[in-house]
Amino acid sequence: MKEVKQFQAESKQLLNLMINSIYTNKEIFLRELISNASDAIDKYRYLSLTSDGKIPNLDHQIRISIDDKERTIVISDNGIGMTKDELIENLGTIAKSGSKEFIEKISKSKENNQNLDIIGQFGVGFYSAFMVADKIEVNTKSINSQNGYKFTSDGQESYTIEDSDKSENGTDIKIYLKKSTKEENYDRFLNQFTVEELVKKYSDYIRYPIKMIVKKSEQDVDENNKPIEGKYHDVFEDKTLNSMIPIWKKNKKEIKDEEINEFYKNKFNDYEDPLIYNLISVEGLIDYKALLFIPSHVPYDLYSENYEKGLMLYAKGIFIKDKCKELIPDYLKFVKGLVDSNDFNLNISREMLQQSPVLRKISDNIEKKIIDKLKDVKTNNFETYKKFFNLFGEHLKYGIYSSYGEKKDLLQDLLIFHSLNHENEMISLKQYKEEMKDSQKFIYYASGETLEQIKMLPQIEKYKKDNIDVLLLDKRIDEFAMMMLHDYDKVELKSISAENSDELNKEDKEKLENLIAENKRLLDNLTDGLKGIVDEVTLSNKLVDSPLCISTKEGLSLGMEKTLNEQPGVDDDHKIHSSKILELNPNHKLFEAFKNLKNDDEIKEYATILYDEALLLEGFDINDKKLFVEKLNKLFLKAFK
Ligand code: ADP
Repeated sequence: MKEVKQFQAESKQLLNLMINSIYTNKEIFLRELISNASDAIDKYRYLSLTSDGKIPNLDHQIRISIDDKERTIVISDNGIGMTKDELIENLGTIAKSGSKEFIEKISKSKENNQNLDIIGQFGVGFYSAFMVADKIEVNTKSINSQNGYKFTSDGQESYTIEDSDKSENGTDIKIYLKKSTKEENYDRFLNQFTVEELVKKYSDYIRYPIKMIVKKSEQDVDENNKPIEGKYHDVFEDKTLNSMIPIWKKNKKEIKDEEINEFYKNKFNDYEDPLIYNLISVEGLIDYKALLFIPSHVPYDLYSENYEKGLMLYAKGIFIKDKCKELIPDYLKFVKGLVDSNDFNLNISREMLQQSPVLRKISDNIEKKIIDKLKDVKTNNFETYKKFFNLFGEHLKYGIYSSYGEKKDLLQDLLIFHSLNHENEMISLKQYKEEMKDSQKFIYYASGETLEQIKMLPQIEKYKKDNIDVLLLDKRIDEFAMMMLHDYDKVELKSISAENSDELNKEDKEKLENLIAENKRLLDNLTDGLKGIVDEVTLSNKLVDSPLCISTKEGLSLGMEKTLNEQPGVDDDHKIHSSKILELNPNHKLFEAFKNLKNDDEIKEYATILYDEALLLEGFDINDKKLFVEKLNKLFLKAFK
């Protein structure tokens, strides 16, 4: 019986985009289908190996057949096949999370052709065949099903599913090529040399033979076996088109970057070359090979709940598991790649594998290798490293923070920072330390939402004046990571917003204390007016031009307070309060003006305006805006009377 089914709305939209795209790289459809065929064989092999002989071991291959009269190409595999439900599920829908919103967005976007490349991220592998086909038939039989089924579609509105007489497990995908036009020559895919070239280019590493009957011309021979001049006849050869050597098993020197990049894009559904790759071969106590990639952009779903970290796992060259999360620590979740080890028993179940000490060892080793590679890139190709750090640097900081500093030694030299004295560059802690003045005791940092804003902090004026460098931190995780780091090479890291009266020399300290004593009434009144908001109002010699600033004690800054209180689930009763000090600049006119205020109540009343002013200067929002405006207006009215 033939059933007609409609494509899901978003599948339809995506199909439309694909088909009508000016996507230049139409030839990639072949690698997509071959890659699917190879995955299907992987799945069969894994089942067979773990079935105690119930599922027979087969001689696997992928076959390409061209029919130039019918203008079709068939890609066949003897892999796992699909059941009827799977056909509908896999080819009738694009059930990838987030794809709906994404497609809506790009459909509306004007720069469609640029965005079309991004389609690759959704693994529209099979659908890409509609770029070259006006009809596709998928004839498949699952090893889990008695019957075969045929899916047919023109990639427009609907598809049909019907019973088929396919008796062997596997899938044949038949592509009816579009008619060639002036712009696009689809007939080239009927040329065996083109197909052979495409297989070499994109699918050489596929570990199963990709076979095709190829026609060759041979010279005729006479009865003495001597070639006859100018006379030829056709011979047919069943040719394996690929070398079948998994790319990760090849010798480093033999592989071209291009080959690795193509492999990455195909295997990990990316439209861009990776930023960094690392081919690892370890022998000895543990034995594994790995091919790891750092993408050149943040994967679209990295921060979504559905993102699954992990590396592909192979054992003795056989595919075991897609996203083996045990192989990679959380803070490196953006790393993609695969691991192939001879140390696993093939019959090991996926569950047992997770507890395997071998896996643990490999995973630790991989973490080190990734860090070593990053150090290497940082030293030898700083431009690339900067790009990496801008994309994923926060994850390294997260690694330091979430390990409670345990990964400090491993990661601290990978951190780079903007700084006051290095406007357009980024520097490491090592470089900062080397450039420190002899008299300088701390590595200073300042934090805020943006670099521009940090550079305008009141506290930073003094460092500018004294030409002391300050690291500028504009990511929320930064201060938390700095807190965990605590020091670099025995030099303590210190926020310029932290209370620092103990840093003053004896003479300055005495002077300041005297000044504070002289102005006790004013400062006490201000402190009183800010009860419950700040611990203390005092004078400071931190400031140059600004009238005031807020310092914090005990390591918890205003920014950290804000970040922590914005965490989901933190209600008003559980808000965290950092202990704050409002510091006034004794050399500022504002302070002079306050000194002239005789009325204690008035001082108390205006205290909150001072605090709000400081908040604004520090780049934060005022809590009670209405009160601020009321008080400000009262002042205006008084002044303009
Ligand atoms: P992807 O390969 O990225 O998952 P595709 O659209 O290419 O996306 O394929 C969707 C799904 O269809 C695959 O995940 C797989 O389950 C199934 N599929 C595709 N081709 C085959 C095949 N030759 N044999 C078995 N299953 C297949």
